[in-house]
This record gives sequence, structure tokens and C-alpha cells, in this order.
Amino acid sequence: MSTVIYPSPIFGPIHSRRLGISLGINLQPADGKVCTFDCIYCECGFNKDRRPTLPRPSRQLVAQKLEEQLQKMVAEGQLPDVLTFAGNGEPTAHPHFAEIIDDTIRLRDQYCPHAKVCVLSNSTMIHRPEVHDALMRVDDNILKLDTVDPTYINKVDRPTGHYDVQQIIEHMKSFHGHIIIQTMFMQGEGVDNTGEEFVGPWLEVVKQIKPQQVMVYTIDRETPAQGLEKASREQLDAIRDRVIAAGIPCTASY
Ligand code: SF4
Repeated sequence: MSTVIYPSPIFGPIHSRRLGISLGINLQPADGKVCTFDCIYCECGFNKDRRPTLPRPSRQLVAQKLEEQLQKMVAEGQLPDVLTFAGNGEPTAHPHFAEIIDDTIRLRDQYCPHAKVCVLSNSTMIHRPEVHDALMRVDDNILKLDTVDPTYINKVDRPTGHYDVQQIIEHMKSFHGHIIIQTMFMQGEGVDNTGEEFVGPWLEVVKQIKPQQVMVYTIDRETPAQGLEKASREQLDAIRDRVIAAGIPCTASY
């Protein structure tokens, strides 16, 4: 098994399937993974196997390293399309997430005003007002909703604390459309969210949330759990087309 631990606080730039030239911002320690989910498909591995010993980067360190990297990219003439909060775990769990977003927007405006600020989040902290408000200030607020079935969530996303999907859905509605829903479809032994019993209820909830966009995707890298398989191109295309038919832009990544 070869899972990935990203450098911290800045990594890349990397070419992302969905985002273009992406400069990564990782608010977790450089030597391990900290997440409020423990997804069986996580490219960073299981939480228990990747416990860090280092602290999270401070707000000051994130701003300093981001500015240094942006200065380098400006000098090289290769500006990022997007500054992406992602990495070894849940970015919104950083205690100074909101302030770091403000620093990042300021540096983006200064060095690469055409780049988007994008957050990839598992949605577990969106009940916090300061996290909600910070996500309203970013360009792309990409929130995970793999299914609306609590049993599947407990088997696949495996929240490490209290998680009530109905509450998450209500908080997602409170973004009033400033939200991109990201959903991982996959299949494997005892886990398969590609069938109608999962897709139908998920789609009904997506329509209620009214996101600006939906991104459906599938496994792309090695996973810590064995026996997981990609959703097929045909399955993803069919789901994408149903979302589009509901009037919501949708992309599929294979
Ligand atoms: S939410 Fe993301 S970082 Fe956290 S365990 Fe799941 S895939 Fe990994």
C-alpha cells in the first residue's frame, strides 16, 4: 500500500483533474494525518496508521510560506489557477481556519488576482459560524456529501465524532447556493453507493440544497482498504446526466 502524506503547509503546484494548476495549502502537520473522517478510500491512509508527532502549522507560518511560494511562482511566470485547501485531513478543523482564509485572500489579491481560493472539506465543521462565514468568502466551497445513508457513512466515511447527516444537509442549505457538492461513488465488498437506492435519495437532497455545481468522481489512487473498485464511466455519466437534468451543473471525473 502506498498512501500519500503531503508536505505542510504548502505543497505543489500540482495539476489537478478537477481544478487546473493548483497550489496546495495543507493545514495539518507535515508528518501525519488528522481528520474528522477516516474514509476507507482516503489517499492519506487510515488515521491510526498516520498519527502525527508535529503540531499543525501556525497561521503566521502558513502566510509566510504561501507568500514565499507565490513570489517564486510570479518570478517563474507560472501562476496558479487555484489555491486549494486540502492535504492530510480536514482543513476547517484548524483553530485559525477563518483567519488563514483571510490571509490567503489578501495574498491571492496581491500576487495572483485571477486565481480562485478553493476549500475541499468533508463538511464536519460547517456548523461553526466562523467556518461557515469563511467558506462564504472563498470562491469554491467544495463540500463532501458521499451519500445521505447514515449506515453507509459510518461504514465508508467513518466520522470520528458526532455526525448527523440531516444536520449537515440543513447547514449545506444555509450556504444559499454558494456550495459545490463533491461525491465519491465507488463499489466494493459490502459498500456500493452507485445503485438507485443510494443515487435516488442523494439526488433529492442535492436538489434541496441547490448547489452551484456538483462534482462526482471515483477512486483515483491506491486506497488503505482493500477490495474497493472504481465506479464505471457509464455509472458516473448516468449520475452526472441526472444532476444536469435537474438543472444543476455537474462534472464527472473518472
Ligand atoms: S475526509 Fe478526506 S482527508 Fe478526511 S479521511 Fe476522508 S478522504 Fe481522507
